[in-house]
Amino acid sequence: MHAPDDNKSPSITEEDDEDLFKFQPEETSSLISSLPPWSVLTVDDDRDFQRTTAFALDGIKIFNRPIELTQAFSMAEASTLLATQQRFGVVLLDVVMETDYAGLRLVKAIREVLGNAEIRIVLITGQPGMAPMRDVMSDYDINEYCTKSELTTSRLIAILTSELRTFDQLKTISTARRGLQLIVESSNRLLNKHDLTSYCDAALTEIALLLGLNPEGVICARADQIYQQPDDHKIIIVGAAGKLRNLIGKSIRELPDNKIVNGLLKAIHARNNIEQDQASILFFPKEMSGADFVIYLPTERTLLDTERQLLQVFASNISGGLHNVALFSRLDQLAYSDNLLRIPNKNALIRAIDRALLTEQRPRLLLLIVDLDDFARINHTFGLAYGDALLRQFSHRLCETLAAPTLVSRLGDDVFGILGSYEHVSASLVKSALDRPFEINGISHLMTACITSVYLDSVEGNARDAIRQGLLALKEAKRQGPGNSMVYDKNLENSAIKCFQILHDLQQALTDQQLFLAYQPKIDLSSGEIAGVEALIRWNKEGRAIPPSDFIPIAEASTLIHSIGIVVLTEVCKAIITLQQIGLTPPTFCINVSGKQFSDTALIPSILDILCKHNISPNHIELEVTETAMMESFDRVSMALREFRKTGGHVAIDDFGTGYSSLKYLNELPADTLKIDRSFVAQIESSHDHGSIASMVIKLARNLDMQVIAEGVENETQDRWLRDNHCDLGQGWLYGRPMTLDVLIDWLQERSLQTMQHSQS
Ligand code: C2E
Ligand code: MG
Ligand code: MG
Repeated sequence: MHAPDDNKSPSITEEDDEDLFKFQPEETSSLISSLPPWSVLTVDDDRDFQRTTAFALDGIKIFNRPIELTQAFSMAEASTLLATQQRFGVVLLDVVMETDYAGLRLVKAIREVLGNAEIRIVLITGQPGMAPMRDVMSDYDINEYCTKSELTTSRLIAILTSELRTFDQLKTISTARRGLQLIVESSNRLLNKHDLTSYCDAALTEIALLLGLNPEGVICARADQIYQQPDDHKIIIVGAAGKLRNLIGKSIRELPDNKIVNGLLKAIHARNNIEQDQASILFFPKEMSGADFVIYLPTERTLLDTERQLLQVFASNISGGLHNVALFSRLDQLAYSDNLLRIPNKNALIRAIDRALLTEQRPRLLLLIVDLDDFARINHTFGLAYGDALLRQFSHRLCETLAAPTLVSRLGDDVFGILGSYEHVSASLVKSALDRPFEINGISHLMTACITSVYLDSVEGNARDAIRQGLLALKEAKRQGPGNSMVYDKNLENSAIKCFQILHDLQQALTDQQLFLAYQPKIDLSSGEIAGVEALIRWNKEGRAIPPSDFIPIAEASTLIHSIGIVVLTEVCKAIITLQQIGLTPPTFCINVSGKQFSDTALIPSILDILCKHNISPNHIELEVTETAMMESFDRVSMALREFRKTGGHVAIDDFGTGYSSLKYLNELPADTLKIDRSFVAQIESSHDHGSIASMVIKLARNLDMQVIAEGVENETQDRWLRDNHCDLGQGWLYGRPMTLDVLIDWLQERSLQTMQHSQS
């Protein structure tokens, strides 16, 4: 180790000292006085040199900034300082310390190991002979070299002035470069934020990062209608960091610090950015951002020029981003909200369910599907405006009853979807929203609804699957009647799959002509003669008979019922022709027509067309329509039936007594026959009923001037009772089971033989 070298003592003279104190840099500083001092490090094992240097620089300001001197007395000490502190702008470095080249080794370490390219290095040596080679100077970016004997105070300050200026410029460039890089990265991160809250959230974080600020206390507010009338209550906090986050959505008046409120207002009224000692307030005009926005940054210091410039670049980026977010919100509103009710729509519900399903731990969420009962009829009877008003009031009540964060959405028409936690959502809560009547145009209207529940944690699949499950359960709930509630369970799914399978097979059966008819006779109870036959469809699938009650409702839910109708009528026509060909007088053939078939407005013309093609008079045909089908769309069905009767065809009301006919309609029933439902025939023998309903239907038919037939007659007691009570006709196993055409022919031939023998004897 070398001992401190007295030869190396500095030669700063008295005159130089005067110079030194008079020294003022020529350039006016672009940096303002509160800027931190320059950090200069002197590295020398010569304590005298260190002392005189410190004395020479005491009280000196360069570019209006004082100098803060740090001293190191060895290469090792200097290395530690440089590695742990980045503040040094210039290092005055003695070449010879622990070793002859200790200084040069430190230079190498600064540039190569620490990677510090900005710090300025001035080599100082006691002897001219120790000057480094020129290529070493340039390789390690050694900026100045001088011997201690040359180093007067003024030379020292001249060197420091020049090196500190260079350091400052390099620093500015690298800060700007890093800043620009940050802006690009920040802007990229902001690109995928499409809603205002998450955009502001991200933008505030990015600004804080850019300026190296603590994000706490950063506020972004949206100022609507501010410049027509400066009403600061319309200035709403749309983004905030740290503790202030819970104020998002509230007025800036609720901010705890008046300094922030005043700063925000000042920028809004000035419609410009505002710089304060401790804060910067950025203003984004609505022309650029879709609405006026203002961001408060508690910088707690005055920003540097470079920082200010970076902020401006970033602010213009944010401006564009805010504008995009505004556009996106508008698009979002169009895509995710219901135009009529101004509540979220099906897309919004799907999005919310999908988000919930994607979370790792499925939240305990319940999806309710609510379908108002009888709404189509209300719309039809009272008009669309009335229906809309009803929907508005109902949606309003739902939103009141099930407050946010529960999502109340409209899936379509009169169907609503509700998503919320088990604790806050239930079918009974929805029902409570229907407890009181709705008041529309002075009319008080009570409504009911069918409600189904789907527990999200049991859903396999996505939002669409969850909604489909709810709708599937809804179908079942509706089938069970108005006001019904039901929870989705997997068995429903199985029955849906079964239905789909049946539908598929039925379609195939129709194509392969596997469907056929059975005929069941109707008997005139007073004469015992055959009064008609009812055609009943039959389907044997792989040797197994599928009852009509299993497949007719499924056919009714699709368009297959229309094809079945055509097959049945065509077969009946062929049966009539066959009977005629073998010399039998065909009785009236009764055909069951489903209510759904009447949705085809050309039903009667197409029936007449088929009859005409087979040259059969409508007089041979009776259409059986159930009372329920009749009541479901009385006007449409009765108009069609009237049209059929005009051509000579007959009409019977099937299953009478089960469809709750309104008395108002009874007089207008366009029918020749009422058919007592077999459940009432079965009650003839019951001890408490004694056939009271059957008897009532018989009397009703008399009054309406109609024929009456009892179906499902199985025994003599029923038969006797019906005769005693003047029922016209009977149908049932007692007289004949449904039979194939061949068996029917034998049956008819046998009976006509019996009649002949009877008349001969
Ligand atoms: P529906 O029109 O009321 O037919 C009478 C049903 O009662 C038939 O059942 C018949 O077999 C059954 N039945 C007849 N006599 C007795 C009896 O003494 N006791 C008992 N327990 N039952 C008796 P099926 O053939 O199973 O038909 C059931 C329903 O399917 C029919 O009720 C009708 O609504 C519908 N249907 C049958 N064929 C057709 C068709 O071609 N088109 C349409 N749209 N529906 C049909
Ligand atoms: Mg029938
Ligand atoms: Mg019936």
